Amino acid sequence: MRPLPLFPVTTVGSWPRPPKVAEALRQFRRQRIDRGEFDRAADAAVIELLELQQNLGCDIVTDGELRRDNFYSFVADKLDGVRLMTLAEMLGVVEDKAGFERLLQTLDVPAYSISSPICTGRLQRRRALAADDLRFVRRHTDRPVKVTLPGPYLLTRAMFVSELTRAFYPTKEALAEDVVAVLRTELVELAAEGADFVQFDEPVLTEVVFAPGRTRTFMCSALAARRDPAEELDLAVSLINRVVEDVRDVRIGVHVCRGNWSRDETTLLSGGYQPLAAYLERLDVAQLVLEYATERAGDLMPFGGKELGLGVVNPRADAVESAAAIRMAVEDALRFYAPGQIFLNPDCGFGTFSSRPMSSWAIAAAKVGAMVAAARELRG
Ligand SMILES: [Zn+2]
Repeated sequence: MRPLPLFPVTTVGSWPRPPKVAEALRQFRRQRIDRGEFDRAADAAVIELLELQQNLGCDIVTDGELRRDNFYSFVADKLDGVRLMTLAEMLGVVEDKAGFERLLQTLDVPAYSISSPICTGRLQRRRALAADDLRFVRRHTDRPVKVTLPGPYLLTRAMFVSELTRAFYPTKEALAEDVVAVLRTELVELAAEGADFVQFDEPVLTEVVFAPGRTRTFMCSALAARRDPAEELDLAVSLINRVVEDVRDVRIGVHVCRGNWSRDETTLLSGGYQPLAAYLERLDVAQLVLEYATERAGDLMPFGGKELGLGVVNPRADAVESAAAIRMAVEDALRFYAPGQIFLNPDCGFGTFSSRPMSSWAIAAAKVGAMVAAARELRG
């Protein structure tokens, strides 16, 4: 891990895909162009984004997840036993069609535009999930690099669709065993390849506590039946801790948010971190990357000595936060955290879905610039 300044500025992962890359991804998925042609379009965009982050003064850069359809669906391209299905396709196979249609209505997302990776066979790592992307990034920047991966709980919940999965894994816990193995292999490889920061995305944790009793409100946990929230959270903690166990030489974080699929804040979940705190504290990771720019996230609090990736800009709003407002948010966090424990980031990704970015490239850049300005003032 390379040294970082105080209040390092980074992003949560995704960046709006340039139209050329989004189009190349569509063509690649329809098998109209080959991987080499897709990579040429994506490589150029990643290099441009790395230069932009460097010029803006971003301390930990990412590849913007530009090669991914969304933050977790891309695994379908890398793992045997996983098929990318749109929500519309899933509607065709699920037994509870009425319930699934109600879910689609609550999402404010066109069903054909969002794809989910569904387990339809035994999981097998065919290609690296992110290690080859990391190698590419490291060839084109000297900056510390963050790599994002879907967390094991999210991935298990998203991939387990009983009607399609049970022939290979009778329960989601059985599927989780292989998900943990795949992510752990990837994490070890990323650490060996010199990743500075690996972030596991577990947005679905908030759905467990903020939408109990409601069915399937969160797009990426489509169908797996829920038990008691406490049991689900215990499962999530144990899966994450097994993925990261004894992995050293890389900063590991977990990102939690309340949804980033719509700019309509009223469709997203709401509630403070208190009901999750006891579980988040038990995670064997250095940092929690949390949204706080949105009021839906409630009040600041400490989590047993962990670093805080403090969400200070909202990727779903066009108004660019001022450096002064960001500085005030950090000063507020200094009530609970030492200066060396606070990183600055947006609440969530600027892109999320290749076909449905939350932000434009220009506004995302302006927001990163505001964080950099605030960090420089704070360091002064
Ligand atoms: Zn998020």
